[in-house]
Amino acid sequence: MQEENFETLAIRLQAERSHYKEHSVPLYLTSSYKFDDAEEMRALFANEKEGNVYSRYANPNTDELIEKMAVLEGAETGWATASGMAAIFTTFATFLKSGDHVLSSRSVFGSTHQLLNNIFAKWGITYDYADLDKPDQWENGIKENTKIIFVETPSNPGIDIIDLEWLGKLAKRHNVLLVIDNCFATPYLQQPIKLGADISIHSATKFIDGQGRTLGGIILGSAVLMKEIEGFARHSGPAMSPFNAWLLSKSLETLAVRMDRHCENALKVAEFLEGHAKIKRVMYPFLPSHPQYAIAKKQMKQGGGIVTLVIEGGVAAASSFMDKLKMFSISANLGDTRSIATHPATSTHSKLTEEQRLEVGIEQGTVRLSIGLEHIDDILGDIKQALD
Ligand SMILES: *Cc1c(COP(=O)(O)O)cnc(C)c1O
Repeated sequence: MQEENFETLAIRLQAERSHYKEHSVPLYLTSSYKFDDAEEMRALFANEKEGNVYSRYANPNTDELIEKMAVLEGAETGWATASGMAAIFTTFATFLKSGDHVLSSRSVFGSTHQLLNNIFAKWGITYDYADLDKPDQWENGIKENTKIIFVETPSNPGIDIIDLEWLGKLAKRHNVLLVIDNCFATPYLQQPIKLGADISIHSATKFIDGQGRTLGGIILGSAVLMKEIEGFARHSGPAMSPFNAWLLSKSLETLAVRMDRHCENALKVAEFLEGHAKIKRVMYPFLPSHPQYAIAKKQMKQGGGIVTLVIEGGVAAASSFMDKLKMFSISANLGDTRSIATHPATSTHSKLTEEQRLEVGIEQGTVRLSIGLEHIDDILGDIKQALD
């Protein structure tokens, strides 16, 4: 395909059509595939021939989604999983063995913290946390047995950012795999592999679906690394269903226009909140007051759809603000067409101690807003009346 622009590729990259000549790629809802003869079956199982065998391995819909995501992100190839957590688990389980160490950003998704703290710990895999805004913690945190550096940037919900180009060089120097959870940015806003990461992971559940309908995960990287992922995933079975892949591939067709609007709305919300007397602090990558504003500008196309605020008055003020919102949904999800408010301290990050929460910038008055695609006047109007 000769087109090179993101929007065009997201729409025009499609699986081969059947003899029915469908304009839009159909859903291949089949668990397995048949072979012309015994020899073809043998050749496919021996990896001497390319083709579909069984939907836990591959399927035209997952293949299309993977190819599209890989091209959009500048990766060689990828693997699709049933959820974002399945993508993170699969990546850790593929590359880590007993005795290995992970250096992770402190502010990671709640379930990622549980993986490191409770699940991989059982198998003798250790970890340390480093702060995104403290480069020396990364330099000094790499040990002899460090195998993976794992980073969420921008982080959830603190919206901290790290310089990916710098981190990529550090990881290369120490021969450590750099794995980025790129969920908040999507390939439209940030392309970690182009900046030096080895693997980029997405929860497709969020902005990639963008309409709060389905779960999905994607792992992207070089053909060599993805071969190892495939070796683990084929047999352990975290596969994405053809239906979800079909849905998510259609969602990618509108990712660019949706992200443009999410970002435009979110910036307006961040600017409004920044001047408000009841707001202690606002975090948004493209606000000049953000401590890593220059890095955000360098590595992100726009600031994303998430705005995090700290309201004066702690948990009581946060709850009251959320209860007074008329249009915003109270939900733990994000990246939906519908604007959503979450109180991290009592929901997504309730498993952390108060001290751990403060370390990742979550106060009792912290509220995370996922800014949707409603009209900006209605979004701002709802926030204004709730604060008043
Ligand atoms: C939601 C989320 C995940 C987990 O994805 P699921 O699809 O819910 O399993 C991982 N990382 C980040 C940053 C997320 O927001």
